Amino acid sequence: MENDTYPYVNLPLPYALNALEPYIDTKTMEIHYGRQLPAYINRLNAILKDFPELQSMTLEELIVSSEDLYQNGLKVPVQNYAGGVYNHRFYFNGMAPPSNLSPRGILFEMIESQYGNYTSFKEVFKFEGMKVFGSGYAWLVYDDGVLRIVTTPNQNNPIAQGYCPILALDVWEHAYFLKHYNLRANYIEDWFRVINWDEATKNYLDCVNQQKEKELQKRSKMKFSSNDLKR
Ligand code: MN
Repeated sequence: MENDTYPYVNLPLPYALNALEPYIDTKTMEIHYGRQLPAYINRLNAILKDFPELQSMTLEELIVSSEDLYQNGLKVPVQNYAGGVYNHRFYFNGMAPPSNLSPRGILFEMIESQYGNYTSFKEVFKFEGMKVFGSGYAWLVYDDGVLRIVTTPNQNNPIAQGYCPILALDVWEHAYFLKHYNLRANYIEDWFRVINWDEATKNYLDCVNQQKEKELQKRSKMKFSSNDLKR
């Protein structure tokens, strides 16, 4: 990922702020991308400023790192703000202007084969997104050869549980309140119209490759240990 270590900057969006209209409105994008994401970035930079040993870590490494890396209760703030930057980037990059965005590609085929059809997938995803109490995210993730829909509270991230993210839906109220008011279900319906299928497919293929690499590493370790036993 670009700009994946300290100091963090707000990377340009791959589309204009009004490009997701009428599904995600311009004002929401101005505030969400233009003010709220930079606030997470500034806060994360401010936290990391005094901890050089954390500055070379990537966002993913900050999110999955163990407690003993951090001093004085720093783990939760780092996770909240590293998660906040990672999750928002993932969410914004996962959307694209609604023209010519019909669901397609190998990920879409996988979704259809696992959920029966796209309509059932959307129902399950929406159900999970509606279940998030308060602030959080719904995710499509890859886990050991299958797709899963999982949710996380606040700015937590599924990579902390070993899942590989494919799609992220921010269901904090600030993501939809100006246009959809309190109607999260309508927002989720609209979000389906601006899913960036090319980006999601790329994420899916990355996940599949990561899994293959992990298995190869596991196998070569097993080989080593069985050789050790023979000696
Ligand atoms: Mn948000």
